[in-house]
Order: sequence, then structure tokens, then C-alpha cells
Amino acid sequence: MTEPKPIDGAHGARLTIDLGAIVANWRILADRGGAPCAAVVKADAYGCGIGRVGPALWAAGCRTFFVAHLSEGVAARAVLPEAAIYVLNGLLPGTLEAYAAHGLRPVLGSVAEMADWASFSAGRRPAALHVDTGMNRLGLPVPEALELAGTPGIAACGIDLLLSHFVSAEKPEDPVNARQIADFARVRAAYPGLLASLANSSGVFLDGAGHDLLRPGYALFGGNPRPGFINPMRPVVRLEALIAQVRAVETGATAGYNGRWTAPAPSRLATLSLGYADGFPRAISGRGQALVGGVPCPILGLVSMDLIILDVTAAPAAERGATAVLIGDSLDIDTVGQAAGTIGYEILTGLGSRYVRTYVG
Ligand SMILES: *Cc1c(COP(=O)(O)O)cnc(C)c1O
Repeated sequence: MTEPKPIDGAHGARLTIDLGAIVANWRILADRGGAPCAAVVKADAYGCGIGRVGPALWAAGCRTFFVAHLSEGVAARAVLPEAAIYVLNGLLPGTLEAYAAHGLRPVLGSVAEMADWASFSAGRRPAALHVDTGMNRLGLPVPEALELAGTPGIAACGIDLLLSHFVSAEKPEDPVNARQIADFARVRAAYPGLLASLANSSGVFLDGAGHDLLRPGYALFGGNPRPGFINPMRPVVRLEALIAQVRAVETGATAGYNGRWTAPAPSRLATLSLGYADGFPRAISGRGQALVGGVPCPILGLVSMDLIILDVTAAPAAERGATAVLIGDSLDIDTVGQAAGTIGYEILTGLGSRYVRTYVG
């Protein structure tokens, strides 16, 4: 990563996003999966910003993108004029004209959605068909998909891509994976000539899940697609905050709202200009860490809306204006997610709109 510019003090925290690492991760996933690789860029490219992430992936050769909402599709289209953009959450009533106006492709997941799209587009506009192999969330059940194969109703939908989604791809030992791969293969055989896509980030690492188009999201942004193993992806996101104040407290002093932390000994505390309104989870209160001069410093008491208190007793580099790392180095997004009792996905997609985003690479 090239050295970023100094923090802009207008906001006390900065998010650095390594576009080169995103592109490198996209290539790693394409190589590992041995198939063309799309990019899932829902939730503003997992918090990293579709405006910069989309064009970087396009320049690297990515031609197919997936978003969750129509509004995200519109934002993606603005920076990806020629890409194939699929909208995963499907076709909501009243949205047909917008799909057409922006050249977006719905991922159809029910007979009702298919009927709407067919009567509107008469097979002239592409769409994907979502087959549900176990999530029970979106998509046609397998028997229904098999029954509809080859019917005029399908032809009228202009389907060019068949997809399904894993229940537990990050747990390779879960027998549901093999069941889903087998069911998807049956559906695929009934729809000859269509591209097929099954693998999310973790699915790329499952045997037999590759098919024609890989569909990773999280791993592009540095998340570990293989929990429990060394992360093969490059880190993408770095979150740093400025130390606003440092103070010395005596034994028995408390810190923050409701005095949830009590000093067991004379201590040095640092206050960081970043809080839960920036998307840093309050659930990490009393559990997480930040790095100051490379030294892990515990997050004390409750995370406030705009501020966090650290115990910097062991970190001589802690002083007013110094930088604390909240995501980066040993604090990768999976580690931070775990400390907050959640997953790295939620940490990434929660990254707030307050940050100045700096792009490198
Ligand atoms: C979010 C999503 C993906 C990407 O999943 P990751 O685990 O982030 O790689 C792929 N397909 C569908 C249908 C999704 O909803």
C-alpha cells in the first residue's frame, strides 16, 4: 500500500481503501475458481464505494456486477456504462420502467416476477433466474424450476443466467453444500445454453461449485473466505482515527457513559475522534482493541456516538494528534467483526458516510 496523505483534521477518522488490493483479490478468486469472475458490489461495494470500486474492477476486466437493490443498480450504472448489472433482490412491483431505463437485469425469483418481466420485455431484455437450493429466501424451488424448463414462459423472460446461493459455503464440512451443488447441477442440465453461477466468496473454494461465473463479494474486499485457515486475500480497508486527548487517571476512576470501566491502577487514557455514528459498532465496547504505534490498546467502557476511549498505558506513542488503527494490520475485518460479536461483513457494510475515503493503489 502506498503511503496515504496525512489525515484531514476536518473529520477525526479516515478510511483508506486499496483499489489495487481489490483488483488483486478479484484475480486471485478468478484463478482459484478457474472461471470468469463477476463482482458482487451491493451495499455500496461493501462500504468501499461503488464510484471507485466499479471502474477499478472494470479496468481489470470484470464485466458482470451484482447489486442488491435497484437503486444500487442505478448508482452502478452511472460508473459502469457497459457492464452487465444484475439486481439480486428481484423485481418489485412498479419498477419495470426503471430497469429498462438503466439497462439493468433483474434476478427473477418467482413466477409472479417472471410474468411481470415477460409481459414487459417479451424476451428482448436479459434477466437472471434465481433457483432456491436451500436458503428459502429468494428464488424458484428446484421442482418448480425443473417443471418450467423449456416452456414458452421461460423463453419470454429472456433468461441468460441461472443462479443459486449457498447456505453454508464457509463451512466446507457441512453436507448441505454437496446437496446444493447436486440440485443446481440438475437444474442446470434442464436449462442448456445458459450460464450458471453458484459460488460466492467461500463457494469459490468448494470443489465442484465453480461453474461458468463466480460471484464473490466479501473476499474481494479482504474478508477471509475460509474461516479457520490463513486468509488468502489481501487486506483492502484501513480505518484510522486521531487521538483527540490523552489523560492520566488514578486507580478507581471510571471512563465513559455509565462508568462501565474502572481503572485497576493508575492509567493513561486516550480519546479517539470516532464512534458508533461513524459505523464503528457499539457492541465492541469493552472487547475490542486499537493499535497505537503498533501496541494493542483495549477499548474501554462504552463506545460513544462520536468518541472511543482507549487504555494507552502501554503505548508510549499515544499523544494528541497521533493515529490509532481500528481496522488494519493485525486487526483485520474478521477479527474486528468477531470482537463485536458479529461478522466482518457487517463491519464493512456499516462503514459510515462520515469518513473521508482515501483511495490508494
Ligand atoms: C451477497 C451475495 C453474494 C456474495 O456473497 P459473499 O459471501 O459476499 O461473497 C453472492 N450471491 C448472492 C445471491 C448474494 O446475495
